[in-house]
Amino acid sequence: MRPEILFPLFAPLRSLPGIGPRLAALMQSAIGGPNVVDLLWHFPAGIIDRRFSPVLKDVPEGDALATVTVEIDAHLVPRNPRQPYRIRTHDETGSLTLVYFRGHEEHLKRLLPAGETRIVSGRIQRYDGELQMTHPDQVGKPEDRHIVAAVEPVYRLTAGLAQSIVQKAMRVALERTPELPEWLDAPLVAREGWVPWRMAVHEAHAPASEVDVLPTTLARRRLAYDELLANQLALLLIRERSRRRAGRSIRGDGRLRNAVLAALPYRLTAAQEVALNEILNDMAAPNRMLRLLQGDVGSGKTVVALLAMLAAIECGLQAALMVPTEILARQHLRVIEDLVRPLGVRVSLLTGRDRGRPRQETLRRLAAGEIDIVIGTHALLQEGVEFRDLGLVVVDEQHRFGVYQRLALTDGQDKGTDVLVMSATPIPRTLTLTVYGDMDASRLEEKPPGRQPIVTRAIPLERLDEVVTAVRRAVDGGARAYWVCPLVSESETTDLAAAEERYAALRELLGARVDLVHGKMKATDREAALERFATGDVAVLVATTVVEVGVDVPQATIMVIEHAERFGLAQLHQLRGRVGRGAGASSCVLLYAPSLTEAGRARLQILRQTEDGFRIAEEDLRLRGAGEVLGARQSGLPEFRVADLAAHGDLLPVARDDAMRVLHSDPGLATQRGEALRALLYLFERDAAAALIRSG
Ligand code: ADP
Ligand code: MG
Repeated sequence: MRPEILFPLFAPLRSLPGIGPRLAALMQSAIGGPNVVDLLWHFPAGIIDRRFSPVLKDVPEGDALATVTVEIDAHLVPRNPRQPYRIRTHDETGSLTLVYFRGHEEHLKRLLPAGETRIVSGRIQRYDGELQMTHPDQVGKPEDRHIVAAVEPVYRLTAGLAQSIVQKAMRVALERTPELPEWLDAPLVAREGWVPWRMAVHEAHAPASEVDVLPTTLARRRLAYDELLANQLALLLIRERSRRRAGRSIRGDGRLRNAVLAALPYRLTAAQEVALNEILNDMAAPNRMLRLLQGDVGSGKTVVALLAMLAAIECGLQAALMVPTEILARQHLRVIEDLVRPLGVRVSLLTGRDRGRPRQETLRRLAAGEIDIVIGTHALLQEGVEFRDLGLVVVDEQHRFGVYQRLALTDGQDKGTDVLVMSATPIPRTLTLTVYGDMDASRLEEKPPGRQPIVTRAIPLERLDEVVTAVRRAVDGGARAYWVCPLVSESETTDLAAAEERYAALRELLGARVDLVHGKMKATDREAALERFATGDVAVLVATTVVEVGVDVPQATIMVIEHAERFGLAQLHQLRGRVGRGAGASSCVLLYAPSLTEAGRARLQILRQTEDGFRIAEEDLRLRGAGEVLGARQSGLPEFRVADLAAHGDLLPVARDDAMRVLHSDPGLATQRGEALRALLYLFERDAAAALIRSG
């Protein structure tokens, strides 16, 4: 349970004075969370320096931002409300008129009572030698000088939300921020020159100059480190828990594996051999396996996973392969069935499409052990899916699944099922740690032999005709091509229209050799189309981005991507990876619109320079900032509130080591520091992980 000391931080925004339901909703959309703590994580984006406070005769010419102390003389209430409302004021050196359009008399007389002294801050202009300030930004009593004549933090807003509202709410939120016990290691704090948590929060919201709003300040680094530490601690706790589940030793006799290896038309690469041995060793060990198999698209992960699954089946156990889409599930089924059916291995599919009686029958066979390998989508996670004895779960393209979902699959079947996670997303190394912690990893860095480099060209859309002609010529010569149409807008319907239009145009030129697949099609139709493309009945496959993940047609050698500038680098890389899978020379054409932004140009340039997914991922991170790489919600990568990996990436390995040391010396988080670390986990809403802490 969340410690009481954090309660003020997890109070709703509405608990702040002046914030009703309407403002709370606006504020939540600006700051990205419903609670006071979310407001604290909303750091200033800039500053306004109001420290310049001259007497009136020293106010410079022009439009000067100044904070002046004046005595209020008189309110000149306009007879016609469309006329401006004026308030005459003076100091000992001159006079100043405050001007309000649509001023509200009652309110202004309360704010600026005649005969009293007030501090006002805003832009001062001269009209015919007369000083005027229209709509002061700030008005305060003399004792509020430290607030008004200060450097003011400026926050990102949302339409309808005023800067002053956020500033005021923030001041109260900061006042209500409790001192929290220190969860950081004293030597680290000393070495980095950090201040305690509460002070760091206050400093982060009290910039004195422009550089103070950067994520690189000491205060922001400390707060970022806190978050990274919470993240690493949470990952380790989850991993520890899964390790603590007794595993079992799975060590097959090699009978099925040898038969498959003999039937394969190729030999495993050295990288595949190494990865497979690492996996088999983990499976043979008595603990539970939790291993990541990372490899770029086309690096040959599937066969490695299949061999691992066969090792489990050799021991009389079952294996499950979980993939993100129905198409992929069917593709894997086809490839795997061809290889293992002759050996008597029973493979079956379970997807969301299975309903009613067939689904019941599949579930029955799974529970009875009449299926050896089940391949499926999220449907595998549904209730009622039970195995007779599940030895290994392989999760493909894991970035589409959350950590907890992955664990859910093996929950309840308390047999210490081994887990292999496969990822084709070349996550930058810095990010790997945040997602997987120090999960054991095997990497396939080398591609299977015989692959030729993909010739990548960027061509402006005006030259579309030339590209069409070239594709037609290639297709006449027997080639197969993907033609990818982009995300035109948020709406699938408009995307579809673009793809359909392109399909119609190509069909006119190429006749029945063109086909179309898109996300709104019935799954069966989509598979039928992919099947026709795979067999060669169709030569050009026009597609929305559904082809992105995992489709394997080695005979395809041409990839045309329309409006390539609209895609992210990682996505372009994945798409390009659909070609260059066979022995034929492949090419990728990036069609771009003329209004190319600087970043868009840089992306296409990188893609032309390299096919190395890891390098592309690093460049992507550099170009967009971690925020955006992480931003895509469906990515399943953790979203940080405070840490910005582009700025704080260096702290990540430190946090990882720190978390490991802590859990080694104090696994129950029972010491004083441990207690504080529990609060840290809750502060960053790692509640589920905190609940896993071993009691006692
Ligand atoms: P990934 O899942 O890593 O994207 P795949 O497992 O789909 O890659 O492999 C891509 C292609 O490479 C497949 O057609 C597969 O048959 C082939 N392949 C896998 N390993 C080898 C190898 N060692 N030698 C040659 N081809 C291979
Ligand atoms: Mg794959």
